Amino acid sequence: MSSVLVVEDESAIAELIAINLRHAGFEVTVVADADEAQRAVDRVLPDLILLDWMLPGQSGVQLARRWRSEARTRELPLIMLTARAEEADKITGLDAGADDYLTKPFSTKELLARIRAVLRRKAPESLDTAVEVNGLRLDPATRRVSRRVGDEQREVKVGPTEFRLLHFFMTHPERVHSRAQLLDRVWGDHVFIEERTVDVHVKRLREALAPAECSGLIETVRGAGYRLTQQTRSVAA
Ligand code: CA
Repeated sequence: MSSVLVVEDESAIAELIAINLRHAGFEVTVVADADEAQRAVDRVLPDLILLDWMLPGQSGVQLARRWRSEARTRELPLIMLTARAEEADKITGLDAGADDYLTKPFSTKELLARIRAVLRRKAPESLDTAVEVNGLRLDPATRRVSRRVGDEQREVKVGPTEFRLLHFFMTHPERVHSRAQLLDRVWGDHVFIEERTVDVHVKRLREALAPAECSGLIETVRGAGYRLTQQTRSVAA
């Protein structure tokens, strides 16, 4: 389930957005100003943020700029909401780092379509689309992982954390992810969970992948973290 943080001080609008998003299967948190938004993001990174431009205190644009300047939040999917329809404002919003921009009033249909488009592009691990890497197939809808080995479709049994971890790796192949990044993106918490937790779950994941002969899919990159690589060397178990 994708989590969305809604930063909107007009409670009627915030509530309407929240109801519609929850109905569409999103997990929604609503906050009313920049400080609250920052605290929410410090705790757990959401999959996407809907950020109102006009907020009491620090504006949405300032907040977007700050998030884009920090490593942890640089890639956060972000859609700006605004009552302004001027071209110049739209450009300011996008320049501040918004991935997309919606002018109020907007339809729920359009909001959902924009959210899905931004997630597809920036956080595919938060969507229910099946992914396949080197014959290994993961389906979030059925929570099944399997791989064809010879004539046989081998089921891979993984726990819930290993499933999320594998899903994240498969949707972000060939990139090195540090332990802190993995904690943020897979566990949603980089502060209260120890980094060696990642090592424990990577080990379990490799063990789970061994019967499907692809435990070598997840590489350790010394001093940096982990990477899923499709450059198959011999991965026979
Ligand atoms: Ca507002």
